[in-house]
This record gives sequence, C-alpha cells and structure tokens, in this order.
Amino acid sequence: MEIKMNLTSTPKEKPDASTLGFGKIFTDHMFIMDYSRQEGWHDARIVPFGYIPIHPASTVLHYGSEIFEGLKAYRRKDGKVQMFRPIENIRRMNNSAERLCLPTIDEDLALEVYTKFVQTEQDWTPSAPGTSLYLRPFMFGNDESLGVHAVHNATFMIIASPVGSYYKEGINPVKIMIEDEDVRAVRGGTGYAKCGGNYAASNRAGERAEQQGYSQVLWLDGVERRYIEEVGAMNVMFKINGEVVTPMLSGSILPGITRKSIIEVLKKEGIPVTERLISIDELQKAMEEGTLEEAWGCGTAAVVSPIGELCYKGVKYPVSEGKIGELTQKLYDTLTGIQWGNIEDTFGWTYQL
Ligand SMILES: *Cc1c(COP(=O)(O)O)cnc(C)c1O
Repeated sequence: MEIKMNLTSTPKEKPDASTLGFGKIFTDHMFIMDYSRQEGWHDARIVPFGYIPIHPASTVLHYGSEIFEGLKAYRRKDGKVQMFRPIENIRRMNNSAERLCLPTIDEDLALEVYTKFVQTEQDWTPSAPGTSLYLRPFMFGNDESLGVHAVHNATFMIIASPVGSYYKEGINPVKIMIEDEDVRAVRGGTGYAKCGGNYAASNRAGERAEQQGYSQVLWLDGVERRYIEEVGAMNVMFKINGEVVTPMLSGSILPGITRKSIIEVLKKEGIPVTERLISIDELQKAMEEGTLEEAWGCGTAAVVSPIGELCYKGVKYPVSEGKIGELTQKLYDTLTGIQWGNIEDTFGWTYQL
C-alpha cells in the first residue's frame, strides 16, 4: 500500500535526554490509516503530529472501542536503530482487534507501516543509556452514529515518544499492594486484549494503592480473588525455592512479550520455569516460610521491575530484603543487552531498520 508522506516544514528541537520522562514529548509526525467496510484499510499517511478531528458520536467516545500496543525502538552503539519483536506486537494487536470487533491489519502491511514510520522518526531515537523511542500504535472504532454494533469504520494510528531511562538512580525495587476488592478482568472478558477499557477499570485500585504509598497493585482473579494474575500493567514472576513460576495465560491475563521473552531466556539458560495457577495462599505461605526468593514485574516500559515489598490484607512482607534479586538483575541485563544491541541476539528478536 502506498504511504503518503506529508512532512512538517517546522521540525521541533530534539529534547535533552535528561528531560524525557515517559510519554510526555512527541515526535514531529504521526501515522494514520482509515478503515471502512467497503474499502478496507486505506489512505495510509504520515503527517505532522497534531490534533485529529473526531465526530462527537464517534464509537470510541461512547462505547470504548479502543486497543493499543507498546513497543520500543532502540539506538545501538553503532548508531543503527532496531525494534524489539515488532511482529509479536502486530499479532497481539490483531488478537485484541478480534476480541473488540475491530478490523485486523495484515501482518506484512503492519510491519511495513511500523518500519516506514520509525524510519521517518528515527532521528528522535535518543542515544543516552536507558533511553529509547517508545512507539504507541492504537486503533479505535470511528463510526459516526450512536448505534451499538461491531464497528464499520475505524482509525489506526502510531505516535512516538522519546522516553528516558526508567531507572534514574539504578534499579529501584517497588512496593506492591495485593488488591482483594476490585478486579481487572475476568475470563471471557477482555483481559487478554490490550484495550483502553481494562485500564479505565484499573485506575481506582491503583489510586488507592498509591495513597497508601504503593506503586502498583497485584491483581487477583475476578471469580475467587484467589489466583494471582498480574501487577499493574506488567506480568508478574516469582522465584520460589529455586524455581520461577508465573501465572499461566488463562484468558484474563495480558500475554506480555517481555514475559514470553523472559520465559524463553530462562529455558535457554536451563533455569526451571513453570506457567501455572498460583494462589495467594501459596504465595503467602512462601512469604511466611521464606521460600519466596525473588519477585518481579515485567513489561516493555520497565523491562524488569523488582518487587521489594508485598502487602496483603494489611500485612507487609519484604521480598529479597527490599533489594533487587540476583536472577532479577541477570534477566534485566540480558534483555536490555539484547534490546540495545550490546549482547548478541541469538534469539532473532531484534529487527533492524
Ligand atoms: C502491555 C501490558 C503488559 C506487558 O506486555 P509487554 O508486551 O511485555 O509490554 C502486561 N500487562 C498489561 C495489562 C499490559 O497492558
């Protein structure tokens, strides 16, 4: 498909790496493509970054038809730019689209679009340690009527934001509150889809945890509030008695690409790893008996986020004495090494422009 290019005549000044933060600064351009039942995907274009007109009855504003992705482009030492497993994001977005009755995008077309857009914006990929260009592809239902049905019109876009190092003063373990009231998702719902609605439903518990000094919540399953699901917007892993365990993908958990990559790294290294149901009782017992050796969250933004304390029903349990565990550190080093091109990528995960 032809991608029309309408480049800005007033490019912005690139920000200083120390001011980046997460998702506050955007690049010069954005990608847009429209969908209609009659024409399929059409009008692919890269245009100056800016506001988009939207009809007041647009589906997304009323019925929440929205899905998104998150991946990064990294500046290697040799100056080249590479993405991490973009095809995985493309496939996951299509799974999310199917769940929300949004149109899917042909994998080859999506990869072509990602590549073209990152090429256009590649000068925005910062080079300071730990920094990257965060890519946010998203799609929303865009019918101009209030009727409730699968959408007939949709819009797909990609925006990009240079982001700072997630850890400014070394890797800091986070404190996590185990949430036993609100739930994020239920089996049969949209938990496995990366959709905005899941986030809207999560905010209340997140705010409550924050007020009590916790950075995120650990979600339990929506039916029994007994099985561990994930933490905030990350998947979660525990090292108990020398074995890594992580909740299996039951339908209500987001299938993280970082999660999948860590499992593959562990298997290659011969470290035992199991995907299964993990009950809060089992975790509580491991915390009380001291067999919980390490715990961490994993996702694109932080890569690996060590957990230094868990709080359940008002009882606080320190993990790894509040420090980063040995395996947690090793996994962080391996993954970030591959992502920035400092370690040889024997998995074939990186995609150079
Ligand atoms: C995106 C996301 C993750 C992490 O997925 P990655 O592909 O590793 O970035 C985990 N949980 C939720 C709810 C998410 O939205």
